[in-house]
Amino acid sequence: MSDNSSDESQRQRHKQRMQKRKKIVDAGIAQALEQRGVVVVYTGEGKGKTTAAIGTVTRALGYGYRVFVAQFIKGTWECGEKNLLAGLPAEQYSLEWHQMGTGFTWETQDDEVDRAAAQALWDKASKALADPDVYLVVLDELTYALNYRWLDRSHVLAAIDSRPQAQTVVITGRGARQYLLDIADTVSEMRSHKHAFAAGVAARRGIEW
Ligand code: ATP
Ligand code: MG
Repeated sequence: MSDNSSDESQRQRHKQRMQKRKKIVDAGIAQALEQRGVVVVYTGEGKGKTTAAIGTVTRALGYGYRVFVAQFIKGTWECGEKNLLAGLPAEQYSLEWHQMGTGFTWETQDDEVDRAAAQALWDKASKALADPDVYLVVLDELTYALNYRWLDRSHVLAAIDSRPQAQTVVITGRGARQYLLDIADTVSEMRSHKHAFAAGVAARRGIEW
């Protein structure tokens, strides 16, 4: 067989495979008729959970949707995405971004201060979860606030469950418990194969935060 004819038969085989795959994909698309917001959980030990959540923020903003972000982290953390998104023209893009903002708690290690800060942030988040104009709510590192029992689990689950039909919620953090996985529509677990930090490389600005 000449090279040309074997190239041609390879092309034909590829075409047939693609046609078969397209049929399967089209059938899947035809089945997915439900239009509603979903609950997405990014958990696991590997890097990429917050990055993925904020990637979704830019996606939603890119279509002009209203977005609310709450970060259940101690202190006000700088992050590159926030610096960038804060510069978007407010008349064109609607983004609210809140952090727990208990700057001094690393030193005091005061659990009650953390709890109060987490609850104050939750009050804002629960308003967003009740607002039909908000298309996407990101609850970054929510798993810690739940696992430390700063927030009442049943309140959190109820607010997510009764959110507006079109609203999507993205939850991140290590150690997501079964009750969160149960209410989620989509769960991705970031698995750490290796991390530079473990080899003594310092966390890098613009890469890690
Ligand atoms: P990122 O913010 O980079 O998407 P993440 O949200 O998945 O990471 P967290 O568990 O929130 O990770 O960790 C917070 C910080 O620790 C981030 O700066 C992150 O880059 C870094 N980090 C993530 N995974 C690991 C790991 N396996 N070992 C060491 N540091 C990590
Ligand atoms: Mg994170």
